[in-house]
Amino acid sequence: MKVFKFGGASVKDAKGVRNLVEIVKDNGLQNTLIVVSAMGKMTNAFEEVVAQYMIAPKKTPEKLLDIAAYHLEIIEQLFEPQAQIGAKEQVSAWLEDLKIFLKRNKSPKQSFVYDQVVSHGELLSTQIIQQYFQEQGLKSQWVDARDCVKTDAYYRDANLDWEATKQAIDTQIKKGGTYITQGFIGSDANNNTTTLGREGSDYTAAIFAYALQATSVTIWKDVPGVLNADPRIFNPTQLLLHISYREAIELAYYGASVIHPKTIQPLQRKEIPLFVKPFNDPKQKGTVITKGHPIVPQIPCFIVKQEQVLIELASRDFSFIIEENISEIFQLMHQYQMKVELIQNSAISFSVCVSNKYGRLEGLVNALQAKFNVEVVVGVALYTIRHFNQTAIDRIKNNEKKILLEQRTQETIQFVVASPAVD
Ligand code: ASP
Ligand code: MG
Repeated sequence: MKVFKFGGASVKDAKGVRNLVEIVKDNGLQNTLIVVSAMGKMTNAFEEVVAQYMIAPKKTPEKLLDIAAYHLEIIEQLFEPQAQIGAKEQVSAWLEDLKIFLKRNKSPKQSFVYDQVVSHGELLSTQIIQQYFQEQGLKSQWVDARDCVKTDAYYRDANLDWEATKQAIDTQIKKGGTYITQGFIGSDANNNTTTLGREGSDYTAAIFAYALQATSVTIWKDVPGVLNADPRIFNPTQLLLHISYREAIELAYYGASVIHPKTIQPLQRKEIPLFVKPFNDPKQKGTVITKGHPIVPQIPCFIVKQEQVLIELASRDFSFIIEENISEIFQLMHQYQMKVELIQNSAISFSVCVSNKYGRLEGLVNALQAKFNVEVVVGVALYTIRHFNQTAIDRIKNNEKKILLEQRTQETIQFVVASPAVD
């Protein structure tokens, strides 16, 4: 079987859904599992529903009206008037169920509520697409990913139960057919809905591919494939034709945002090739991630992580910073949920660049100040260049006047820079 994944941008309107169908038909309907995200920016819209609900739990969140209108408009553009009725009824029924859930819900846990609500983006998109397949006379089966992707109850960032998932997928999916299912969502042991973290649909595609021993996964995107830099930040960029699994994991680790970091590992284990192709020019080759040479062409890759914090610690009495202090520092980082991106130490100082994901910097700094002299620079950016050369280094250095820290290994050079510019 082959697995196709279509992200939100590819199904943001009726034209996108039609294009999806064309791509699937061109590649052979049979033996295909199609994983779809929420349409357009619907995940963000559902996040707003949660926010409104947490503030005023007694009121029906207003944002639900926009969400209904958005989906109904797509249906109107997609179907003949007669066929619209069924699709519209289904959308309304899902949203009614959601309202009932919100009315009855007693859990104060935002993450739990989040998953029950936000999962509707994918449920609605796949329902509409399934209906459209039927209307076009194409045989397909809608599969509830929550009956397949089994996880723990760590809402918003659930961890996979591989054994249970493998078994569930084996019973739900039979070779030969065409299946349409949701990315991003799963369920826990009590069958409550869970989600795999933002942008988690790529991971869903990899999970199904792993369980089904798929021949390939194709992620259809709004870019020509994997580029050597984010085109929103860097210009010009170049297409990478081939990336090894290992290099793809490295790039994701340093923050390349094209592919969800968890996606590669299951594919690597079963040596399933991953194609990244443009949905608006589907005949293009795009990028393939598989075994072999790290990257082709061999060019520098640029990655930027914005909104980082640089923390510089020095011992108070000029004593060395040794294993004991370092382990204490890391324990505090863990306790305050800071993601450590880069470290550098000398005899009496220790610098660390962190992502302050949960806004707990103040607490951390207070705790560190009990032991060290602490200097904090917020709003820094971390640049990483894989496979760097002098021209690539100059590209960063000529633009960034204030480089606070530099670190290089054989393949990788990193810079922490203050008030980042773009080039
Ligand atoms: N719809 C989810 C999100 O926007 C998951 C995904 O698209 O991968 O984060
Ligand atoms: Mg999305």
